[in-house]
Amino acid sequence: MKKIICKKHGKEAKEIVLPTYEYVPGMALQNVKAYECPVGKELIFTPEQVEKTESRHDIKKHKFADAYFTHLEL
Ligand SMILES: [Zn+2]
Repeated sequence: MKKIICKKHGKEAKEIVLPTYEYVPGMALQNVKAYECPVGKELIFTPEQVEKTESRHDIKKHKFADAYFTHLEL
């Protein structure tokens, strides 16, 4: 399993499963895999995770551009 490092804190993020997550406003998804930084609790999504979620829900690719390796505040 490859390691995902939080670019902001330099710490290894661990994989978690979000019960629900709103990738796109108004469209909440269930059981979304993501990585969480242990320091800042930011969520980091890998392209693989985004792709899987995308194929499950048939959401257009450009909607996900902002989610690639970005840090989202909770
Ligand atoms: Zn962090």
